[in-house]
Amino acid sequence: MRLLNFLDVDGPAVALFFEGRWVNLSSADPSMPTNVQDMLVAEYDSLGKLANLASGAPQLGTQPTHILPPIAAPQKIICVGLNYRAHAIETGQSIPDEPLIFSKLSSSLIGHEAKIVLPSVSDQVDFEAELVVVIGKRGRNILAGQALEHVAGYCCGNDVSARDWQKRKPGRQWLLGKSFDTFAPLGPWMIPADAVPDPGNLNIQSRVNGKTMQHSNTSDLIFPVEQLICYISSVCTLEVGDLLFTGTPSGVGVARQPPRFLKPGDRVEVEIEQIGTLANSVVASE
Ligand code: ZN
Repeated sequence: MRLLNFLDVDGPAVALFFEGRWVNLSSADPSMPTNVQDMLVAEYDSLGKLANLASGAPQLGTQPTHILPPIAAPQKIICVGLNYRAHAIETGQSIPDEPLIFSKLSSSLIGHEAKIVLPSVSDQVDFEAELVVVIGKRGRNILAGQALEHVAGYCCGNDVSARDWQKRKPGRQWLLGKSFDTFAPLGPWMIPADAVPDPGNLNIQSRVNGKTMQHSNTSDLIFPVEQLICYISSVCTLEVGDLLFTGTPSGVGVARQPPRFLKPGDRVEVEIEQIGTLANSVVASE
């Protein structure tokens, strides 16, 4: 079961893949939400409700072509740095004993097959394959044992990063280095949490032009999803639609010998077991 936002002939709509076919949930009934985030707010996200909606919805012949990010306007995008042991080591940093949290601006979100635009003010743009958690139930001070009840689903994400901004600007501009427009590819769809019983055991990889650059498993996360939700919600209320980028494995471009930064014409893929493959091509800014 996959939920995605797409651009239909008359505007944004939600498609659902269920029992081998794509259906258009938004055109089933004029009161239906036209994006996944509004579906989560309306609590349409359980497998039972989705299956029910699918039975009355018109079929789409094929997978929609103009795919939008599954969550386009989250209140927050929260990210975790150095959350895979081997990645902390490759970047020359010590293994954190508490999660290292930062943010990306939501204006950087793009969908599957949208272009990553290289800004003219950076020549060190890098890729980071990440499991992204979509929050489906509001909460503060969430216990680790109840954390997965607050998850609506999972997506593939690419935490695109301008390393020269992130590491070399005065004071280290993590927020800006990770927030250029198009620097948060997300998708292609959201897989409902009920269909991913163990987010802590998923193979994850990135490829550039078909060559595997990162290859790991979410069982290597230093802080698993449950602990991250517990830690972050001790500070702020998690809202429906908030996104959590859970960190990237080793193999990023900046840590390679020689470094491998993104260039126009590259194609980056992030593949996560049970979730799918998010693909984006890279272009120069105009
Ligand atoms: Zn990252």
